[in-house]
Amino acid sequence: MSSEPEHADDITTESESPVDPPPAPDEPDPGEETPPPPPPPPPSPDGPITVDPATWYEVESACITVTCPNLNTTTTEPMVYSNAGTIRMICGVCGKDRKILSAVRLDPQPEMS
Ligand SMILES: [Zn+2]
Repeated sequence: MSSEPEHADDITTESESPVDPPPAPDEPDPGEETPPPPPPPPPSPDGPITVDPATWYEVESACITVTCPNLNTTTTEPMVYSNAGTIRMICGVCGKDRKILSAVRLDPQPEMS
């Protein structure tokens, strides 16, 4: 029966004193301050549809002119060119702007030669 000296409770006074480490020094921004860019606004269903310029889209639109017989009649144009980056749909009945409900980029884009 060998009784090895077990690791009895050490009565060391080496209690780890909770010394807070010094705070990390703030790294100075090199150069000028550049504020973070604002995040892009989330797409809202009621917001304007944004399209890329010079791109073909399939556009669903609806007339929202209350006096128009086509009120709330949705139509889908299979090919609408965005020109400079805007799409306008004109109601053929009342001549007013139609509300663009969706614009789906054609993939592949039709080749115009
Ligand atoms: Zn209309």
